[in-house]
Amino acid sequence: MPHVAFIGLGRMGHGMAARYLDVGFTLAVWNRSRDKADDLIARGARRAESPADAARNADAIVTMVADDAASQLVWTGRDGITETARNGALAIECSTVSYRHVIDMARDLTTRGLRYIDCPVTGLPEAASAGKLTLLVGADADNLEAARPFLAPLGETIRHFGAVGAGTVFKLINNLMGAVQIASLAEGLRIAEQAGLDMRLVQQSLASGAVASPQVVRHSARMVARDFAGASFTTALRHKDASYAIALAESLGLDLTVAGAAVDTYARAAADMPDDDEGRLIDIINASPVAN
Ligand code: NAP
Repeated sequence: MPHVAFIGLGRMGHGMAARYLDVGFTLAVWNRSRDKADDLIARGARRAESPADAARNADAIVTMVADDAASQLVWTGRDGITETARNGALAIECSTVSYRHVIDMARDLTTRGLRYIDCPVTGLPEAASAGKLTLLVGADADNLEAARPFLAPLGETIRHFGAVGAGTVFKLINNLMGAVQIASLAEGLRIAEQAGLDMRLVQQSLASGAVASPQVVRHSARMVARDFAGASFTTALRHKDASYAIALAESLGLDLTVAGAAVDTYARAAADMPDDDEGRLIDIINASPVAN
């Protein structure tokens, strides 16, 4: 049986790791907060005591952690994956990390004998549990072919954008554009609320009109109802992704005006309520007294 080590059992990673059990792979798991692994252990996964312990004998090591700092720690920190990973093992980074981080990590891990691919994903936690994520890959063609059996349980749609880092470039522009859409939706809805419009009609009209992207459809209903139960993507994660996208743009010599404003708005939301649903951005757009 193929042997997978899975690191990071948050909202996304837990469901993704479970997919390897669904398809009968041998699975070792590690998460910083130990109890998130309990049900996977009950289903037959091995509980690892560290990322290094998880990676022992693995054919592929998959990581799904918050950001650059967490990724660095689990790959190359103390008791990190590289302490035990076998020569030729696949290193599959599914976390959304910065482009700079991907390039640096790919160089480092390749030097250590691993085969690195960046594979950030799109899809909500329900898609992760169902094996229906879209996988955004940057990899050498040979490494992608070797990785396919380990990607298939996560999602059928694999988009190969090019060499290592290319999957992350796409993921970052995708999530930056999402940040802009959600921030502009919040501002549009606040205008409509202040102007006294029927917000049910506003929401229905937005959701069926020309601006009805999936982001607008999903977030307009939640924002109008101020119902943010069951956060699937937080203000902190959206701010992190959009900030990484801006850093990438700057490294390419681009100065982004609209995206910069959205990131600033998300910075305020992430400072006030980092673990809340990203749609709660609307709550920081307050009305100021109107000058006469
Ligand atoms: P999450 O629920 O907050 O999980 C974050 C994971 O990272 C947890 O396992 C957490 O461990 C771990 N972690 C954080 N800091 C760490 C550190 N310093 N050392 C070790 N582990 C650390 O977030 P998520 O929603 O699953 O997102 C995970 C990744 O997927 C992020 O890069 C995110 O941008 C991306 N993503 C998310 C979605 C979504 O809809 N949620 C969709 C696509 C992509 P603990 O459990 O101990 O906190």
